[in-house]
Amino acid sequence: MVNKDRYAVVGFPIKHSKSPRIHRLFAEQTGQDIEYTAIELPPGQFHESVKCFFAEGGKGLNCTLPLKELAWQFADVATPRAGFSKAVNTLILQADGHILGDNTDGCGFIRDLTVNHNIALAGARVLILGAGGATRGIIAPILEQNPLLLTIANRTADKARQLAAEFESIGAIDSCGLTALADKEFDFIVNATSASLSNELPPLPDGLLAGQGSCYDLAYANEPTAFVRWGQARQAKHSLDGLGMLVEQAAEAFYLWRGVRPATRPVIDLLNTERQEHAR
Ligand code: NAP
Repeated sequence: MVNKDRYAVVGFPIKHSKSPRIHRLFAEQTGQDIEYTAIELPPGQFHESVKCFFAEGGKGLNCTLPLKELAWQFADVATPRAGFSKAVNTLILQADGHILGDNTDGCGFIRDLTVNHNIALAGARVLILGAGGATRGIIAPILEQNPLLLTIANRTADKARQLAAEFESIGAIDSCGLTALADKEFDFIVNATSASLSNELPPLPDGLLAGQGSCYDLAYANEPTAFVRWGQARQAKHSLDGLGMLVEQAAEAFYLWRGVRPATRPVIDLLNTERQEHAR
């Protein structure tokens, strides 16, 4: 019997991860005979367990919260986009035995916006709420779209200031605390705070979203998140959550591992239908 190529997602916790489902759907669709599992891994066991996974023939890993920074430290080599974000969500065993670290989150986010929803950021006033790992991963890809200005606003204003300073050489970026948003207006607002995970929302001024503006919550859930509802209540043109980004970042990882790009539309449609049924 020929052993299947082995892949997995590691995280802590990992029980609710949709990655095994998504990658199995990709494998079925593209005729790739792989095994993909979910492994719960406390941060303290990351290094040894991941070393073991590759030593025993594993071909690639996805790394999710809170392990992305550890994965960046673990990789023998990192792509420039992983270097920018100081976080790795995809580890790839290379032909020479080295482990390459990449970060497909930013590219997944931009593909969901531009390809799936036809949202253009060129010339737009863009706001990111939050200054954690996810924000770090999407700043450079957003700046590549040539917005008029990208503003990072964070509860801890100093963290936003530090991030903006790190990226100011590659585009128009500034920063502030959440309380300084009162008189500002944006065409596109991204919620990258983890408040969404507990269905909370930092207090936001009513006029923050411009007419015809759109909202995007990086978090996703079976029900609309607090931020998706905030956008809907302000007549946002689009008020989206991060399910599309999740599928797109997975597709990019699958492509890096297998050299085959799966179609994402049918997988996004299926997951959307399933969560609508779940919500009923
Ligand atoms: P993180 O590094 O822990 O950063 C969390 C950020 O949220 C910080 O800026 C923190 O502010 C802010 N925050 C937390 N609670 C808050 C509250 N009650 N009010 C205001 N601000 C609050 O988390 P992360 O890795 O960046 O993840 C952020 C979100 O992105 C999560 O919901 C995650 O699930 C999502 N995500 C989705 C995808 C996808 O594929 N769809 C991929 C990556 C991440 P302070 O600095 O002041 O503490």
